[in-house]
Amino acid sequence: SSPANTTGSILINRPPDGLVDPKFVEKSCISRSQSYLYRKESPHKPSQYLLNKLRGYEDLHARCGPLTKSYGRTMRRLIKSKHHISGTRICKYLVWTAANGLGNRMISLAAAFLYAVLTERVLLVEFGNEMIGLFCEPFPKSSWHLPEDFPYKNRFDHLQTYETLLMNTINISMEQFSVPSFLHLYLEHGGHKENFFHCDDSQSLLQKVNVLILRSDQYNIPSLFMISSFKKELENMFPEKDTVFHHLGSYLFHPSNEAWGLISRFYDAYLANSDEKIGLQIRVFNPKNTPSQTIMDQVLACTLKNKLLPQVDLLKSVSSQLQNKTSKAVLVASLYPDYTEKLRTMYWRRPTVTGEIVGVYQPSSEGKQRFNDNSHNMKAWAEMYLLSLCDVLVTSGESTFGYVAQSIGGLKPWIMGKTLGTEFREPPCARAVSMEPCFHFPPKFDCKRKTKVDHVSSVFPNMKPCVDFYSGVKMV
Ligand code: GDP
Repeated sequence: SSPANTTGSILINRPPDGLVDPKFVEKSCISRSQSYLYRKESPHKPSQYLLNKLRGYEDLHARCGPLTKSYGRTMRRLIKSKHHISGTRICKYLVWTAANGLGNRMISLAAAFLYAVLTERVLLVEFGNEMIGLFCEPFPKSSWHLPEDFPYKNRFDHLQTYETLLMNTINISMEQFSVPSFLHLYLEHGGHKENFFHCDDSQSLLQKVNVLILRSDQYNIPSLFMISSFKKELENMFPEKDTVFHHLGSYLFHPSNEAWGLISRFYDAYLANSDEKIGLQIRVFNPKNTPSQTIMDQVLACTLKNKLLPQVDLLKSVSSQLQNKTSKAVLVASLYPDYTEKLRTMYWRRPTVTGEIVGVYQPSSEGKQRFNDNSHNMKAWAEMYLLSLCDVLVTSGESTFGYVAQSIGGLKPWIMGKTLGTEFREPPCARAVSMEPCFHFPPKFDCKRKTKVDHVSSVFPNMKPCVDFYSGVKMV
């Protein structure tokens, strides 16, 4: 990338991809203008159609977002009406609410944003204290935070649900049936029942609802590609189907100045000067039943076999290579310190057979996943982002934390299968089929033929089962 011009501390050279409107420069979000200095230029460029859609969405958000006249007018009318209202001056909203860990939240939020763009809804987010201050405001003229006085705030659970609405279409007569103004759309995993969200009939119903309150922890982007009324738009926006999160995640999630401080300081101190950066994400879902040595064996089997890391030389105590030594920096993200300690010791005690120098660095080791803890989430976000800046990525299967890192980084990771007990399954890791996150619980229903299917990837092109979670599906 070209050297940057600066005004004060703000760099005004823009990344060339156009995801961010060049007019949108602020000191309150340094990462928006500086991050491209830390990242290799992506070979995947957003389509002009996507860029036009994003600018169009920004206009909608500026017109209907919190504190605008249209927002006030719409809310005043909505509070008075239980049933959906229509009119050109009425704005529609999609409220995203949080469920599960940060990775789950980010993938479901990106999917919610695309749904909002497709349905011309304004996206508002309810972050709660634990997510406040992690990201910059993504839209130029109006906030995406749910206003304190938003109708039914803290009482969303009492609203009519999407499930009930669907039931009513069957059980209630046409004269009595009505679509509500507010609806709770619950798409969190766990309800393994078919929800028909990906069917066109459901979408024409949902389209009438003025405010959708979404609770989801899933990356249901493949569902959107299954809906025929969205098909053309999505094809125009994403000629490369495996770049959805890569573009939308990079557009939405700019680290706040506090997060950017954590990211840039760590990067500058430990990663910047290495010849190659290897990101290693080690997520242990069941630490009680998985000895750390098993995981360590799996990590070594994966990285050494695939030549991501060099073997150590057991015969020599000093490398014979004196000049032009290249260096590898390994960035470890894990709740535990053990793996870094073991790797570091291994590369300290012996030279490598290639003569490469290997440094191993871990920003934090939090011990366990914590809820309602802002600084814990800040570290998690910084680590996902640091992983995304690496050249090569090795991740733990089924982890949405890893999905965010791989997609923002535009990387196809080596994914290690989930391990339980004292032995890992061969092969220790496999290359992901695309950089997209996996949608863990896709529908199993073909809406056109009205039949059950074993795996939706058999019905739709550009979808494949995920290597780490076979019943899941991802865009390729
Ligand atoms: P998933 O459970 O792996 O799909 O990822 P999530 O991000 O949804 O939830 C896991 C949560 O545990 C994260 O959001 C963090 O709060 C915490 N966590 C897990 N692994 C790490 C890690 O390597 N570093 C940090 N800082 N936190 C982690």
